[in-house]
Amino acid sequence: MPLPCDRCSNRSVIYLRYSGQHLCPDHFLKDVMRRFKRELRAHEAFGKKGTIGIAVSGGKDSLLCLSLMHELSCGIKDVSLRALTVDEGIEGYRQSSVALSRKVCDDLDIPLDVIGFWELYGKSLDGMIKESGSNPCTVCGILRRRTMNSWAREHGCSLLLTGHNLDDMAQTVLMNVMSADLDRLLRLGPHTSTIEGFVPRGMPLRTVPETETHLAAMLRGLPIHEVECPYSVSAKRGLFRDLVLEAEDQIPGTRHMLLRFHQSLLVGRTGGPPATKACHRCSEPIIGADGSGLCKACELLERLVGP
Ligand code: SF4
Ligand SMILES: [Zn+2]
Ligand SMILES: [Zn+2]
Repeated sequence: MPLPCDRCSNRSVIYLRYSGQHLCPDHFLKDVMRRFKRELRAHEAFGKKGTIGIAVSGGKDSLLCLSLMHELSCGIKDVSLRALTVDEGIEGYRQSSVALSRKVCDDLDIPLDVIGFWELYGKSLDGMIKESGSNPCTVCGILRRRTMNSWAREHGCSLLLTGHNLDDMAQTVLMNVMSADLDRLLRLGPHTSTIEGFVPRGMPLRTVPETETHLAAMLRGLPIHEVECPYSVSAKRGLFRDLVLEAEDQIPGTRHMLLRFHQSLLVGRTGGPPATKACHRCSEPIIGADGSGLCKACELLERLVGP
């Protein structure tokens, strides 16, 4: 028999072990919205007029982000939303999630652009991987980030939101700690200041664990995409997912601690935004030293598709 909600007498649907709270559907959804808003307030662009871009994969997290942002922006004058779905070209996986993105964007009346890798780069991810044997997630990640940034810039977005949840963030922090990649940790969003050529990225669900984004999406009546990417079996992330879940089980609050650790790295890092240069080939901005004068995406494409 479920215990009553700690904030009213209704039945609880969830126990938040890390904070010791039982919550009913209504209070749980209010709490998710509270955390979502708190994250957004850290961004200069939030609350100002303009376009906010939302990257929507069709998975539960990005659809939840879209639906919460839609609720928040209703009634805010001069703020518009626009969504992007990147279709990497992964047979048997992406088609069904693109259909879900389209359905939810149609329901919420949010304009959606669907952009395929083959339109921009001449090949699908499947094609690039088959011919080169490269790591699919590395190629997917670099080209997806580049596609999202140029799309958001072209549409004049002041902020680009993604649906990353607490588990995603904790895994990424741990992965980068274990490969001693401080630069990546520092570049990982959310971006509260602006770097020329880059649209700041926000992750307003980054403090909400995956089990909670799943429940919140269900309670809000959003579709759940159950199909797994065929490349995820070989993804290094799987190991970190298991490590983080095991640690969370033994020491509740581990994921929040990893996020707090990341946050503490960013505090006090002033000195202005880093200098950027334009890629010689595509003009996208590059941060830091680059031997070839090409951005990471162009270096990769030169290898996979040709100059
Ligand atoms: S598992 Fe890898 S290839 Fe598949 S969508 Fe995720 S990053 Fe891309
Ligand atoms: Zn309640
Ligand atoms: Zn480039």
